[in-house]
Amino acid sequence: MARPNVIVIDHPVVQTKLTELRDYTTDHRKFRALLDEIASLMVYEVTRDWPTVQKPVQTPMERTTGRVLSRPVTLVPILRAGLGMADGVLRLLPEARLGHFGVYRDEATFSPVSYYKKLPPDVATTEVLLIDPMLATGGSALAAVEFLKDAGATSIRLVCLVAAPEGILALHGQHPEIPIYCAAVDRQLNERAYILPGLGDAGDRIFGT
Ligand code: URA
Repeated sequence: MARPNVIVIDHPVVQTKLTELRDYTTDHRKFRALLDEIASLMVYEVTRDWPTVQKPVQTPMERTTGRVLSRPVTLVPILRAGLGMADGVLRLLPEARLGHFGVYRDEATFSPVSYYKKLPPDVATTEVLLIDPMLATGGSALAAVEFLKDAGATSIRLVCLVAAPEGILALHGQHPEIPIYCAAVDRQLNERAYILPGLGDAGDRIFGT
């Protein structure tokens, strides 16, 4: 089912790696490597329509005009699982600055509790990629988007791996203009707010905890 402003990256290589990530026998070393690779592949699609400006360039043969990104890039991983995608994104966007948004979910209420926030000073004039492998209830993403908007960010894209319909509804209920890029929209959350079929706790699987 197509959902407005939700872009599912259905690329065969991305889907192959996602299937390996879902497999419960995939250990943390392999999980980390796959997530890193998938993040690089996804960012290629996520950035496809970013604006560019013309730039003169002197080749060894003659002068011509190329195109470069119009705006600098800020990458904001939601801690801790978002860190698992950061290097993969940075491989394609090595000039990006990094912000951080630390949040954990209260296991009784499932509400997000933020504990660390830091952004580059020029975030308002940059393209912002907010990254978190799992969009579950949407609580963390909502808190992060509000933090980014308060800091003046105007161009924000959420990059996740697996999204739950509940999380999409929650985020787009408040911020319908934020595009959500993911590799899959899964069925639903369970009673503990884990995504089904999902891939389990992404943070635990990345860090081996
Ligand atoms: N966070 C995870 O890591 N996994 C889920 O299924 C939901 C939230």
